Amino acid sequence: MIAGGGVIGSAVAYFLAAHPDFDGSVCVVEHDPSYQTGATARSAGSIRQQFSTPENIRISQFGVAFLKALGEILEVEGEQPDVQLQEGGYLFLASDAGAEILQANYEVQRAEGAPFDANAILGPHPEVPNFLFANGFSGHGLQQSPAVGRALAELIVAGRYTSLDLSRFGYDRIAAQRPIVEKNVV
Ligand SMILES: Cc1cc2nc3c(=O)[nH]c(=O)nc-3n(C[C@H](O)[C@H](O)[C@H](O)COP(=O)(O)OP(=O)(O)OC[C@H]3O[C@@H](n4cnc5c(N)ncnc54)[C@H](O)[C@@H]3O)c2cc1C
Repeated sequence: MIAGGGVIGSAVAYFLAAHPDFDGSVCVVEHDPSYQTGATARSAGSIRQQFSTPENIRISQFGVAFLKALGEILEVEGEQPDVQLQEGGYLFLASDAGAEILQANYEVQRAEGAPFDANAILGPHPEVPNFLFANGFSGHGLQQSPAVGRALAELIVAGRYTSLDLSRFGYDRIAAQRPIVEKNVV
C-alpha cells in the first residue's frame, strides 16, 4: 500500500508493478484526487544534474533518461503520453558578494534546522521494517521520482537496492543527526 499518489507515490507504484519479480498487487491511497494541495502540481518541473551529492547526480541522470523514453515506457494500448520535455538547463550565477549572502542564508537555514540536509529519506523505518520512507525531497523530488520509484520497487521485491545504491539516504542518518548536505539547492 502506498500512502500518497503524488509523483513519488505514482513512481513507486509504476516501478513496483513493472518489476519482473513482483507478483503482488499495488494500492495507492490518495486523499486529494484533485491534486490541488500536494507539491507535485506546484512543481516548476525543472530538472538538473548540478548537485553536490553523487547519488543525486546519478538519480537525475536516470530521471532524464526515463523522461526521454517516457512515451514508449508508459504507452498504453498504442497511446503514448507526451510530457513535452525540454532540456533548457540551469544557469547558476554568483559574484563574490552574492556568494557571501548565499552562504549566510545557508547557515541560518541550517541553524534553524530547516532543511535537515535537503536530501530524500528513503527506505525502511528502523522499528517498522515494512514501512518504507520516500519523502523529504526538498525542491528536486519531481526529477528524482523515476529513480526513487525504481529504488523502492527494488527494496520491496529484492529487499535491497539492485541498480543504484541509495542506502546513504536511509533514515539512520536522521536518527544519528548525520546530514548528507546537498549544497546545490535551488
Ligand atoms: C513551488 C514548487 C516548485 C518546485 N519545483 C520543482 C522543480 O522544478 N523540479 C523538481 O524536481 N521538483 C520541484 N519541486 C519539488 C517537487 O514538486 C516535490 O519534491 C515532489 O512533487 C514531491 O512529490 P511527493 O509525491 O512526495 O509529494 P506530493 O506531490 O505532495 O504528494 C503527496 C500526496 O500525498 C497525499 N497525502 C498526504 N497525506 C496523505 C494521507 N494521510 N493519506 C493519503 N494521501 C495522503 C497528498 O494529498 C499528496 O497528493 C517543487 C515544489 C514546489 C512546491
